[in-house]
Amino acid sequence: MGDISKEQKLNRLHQRLLQKNGHYAEVIRYTDSEHITLLWDNKAVSTSAYKRFRDGRVSYKTSDISRCIGDKKKQKNGHIAEIIKGPMSGNISVRFEDGTIVGNTTFWQWEQGNISYPAKYEETRKHHVGRQEMQKNGYVYVIDYVEHTNKVHGHFLDGKNTKTITSIKAFNMGVIPHPDGDEEQIRQKKERLGSGLIQSNGLTLTIDRYRTSQDCGGYFEDGTRVEKFKYYKASTGHVGHPTLSSFGHGTYMGFKTFPAFTEDKTVYYTCRCNKCGLEDILTPRQMAEHRKSFHEEE
Ligand SMILES: [Zn+2]
Repeated sequence: MGDISKEQKLNRLHQRLLQKNGHYAEVIRYTDSEHITLLWDNKAVSTSAYKRFRDGRVSYKTSDISRCIGDKKKQKNGHIAEIIKGPMSGNISVRFEDGTIVGNTTFWQWEQGNISYPAKYEETRKHHVGRQEMQKNGYVYVIDYVEHTNKVHGHFLDGKNTKTITSIKAFNMGVIPHPDGDEEQIRQKKERLGSGLIQSNGLTLTIDRYRTSQDCGGYFEDGTRVEKFKYYKASTGHVGHPTLSSFGHGTYMGFKTFPAFTEDKTVYYTCRCNKCGLEDILTPRQMAEHRKSFHEEE
């Protein structure tokens, strides 16, 4: 082979080309056209003739390529393919995010982003579109679009849309959540909304706002509002009143209060009226009556 100019040599040095085995090789030493040294993208080093390199025909030992397993790359179909097997003489197997495996493809195809789902899979995808199924929450879900079996878009027939991206499996199992909650939650909401629950301070709390069991609102029998409590807390009597303490000093209806005892679920307080000085053991309701009878018409 004839010699090339120094300038041509410099041009060829650090040239980086994708070879047909799917890997990039960079010229790191150019002795002459028959003897070049290549550094591969996986740090392997090999020697070749320049023409083979230029034609993309250089390869290296498969033992050097094993590090490609686990490499991920987004394909032109928008999905990420991970190399799970190979490459032996350029052949690899990849796995898409949803678990679909495409075998017998090439690193070159992967590198170019040309790996697509098998034709059979595309058929399956299309087959699901338009399917309707009653979910366990009692709502019918319709599949609009299947990105892949773990990424299914659709809507409920009642028009309420769920932002949840679901899977064919969840759809078939009937477990896609509805934005209003499931039937059991709706039943609980109906049952609990408007219910009156006696709290440990002796006052009845009526629930008039029930978003979920974790977010309720209501009012005590004296009209005082309380917000953002859990239903469980109300059902066990643990929602507190802002001024009537069930465990320490409080003020209520013009009385200074301190819990005395509980009898038949009625809470009695040792209390003293701020206006007339009456000292007695009364229930919150009796304190309210005293205030109404003796101090409101003054
Ligand atoms: Zn009084």
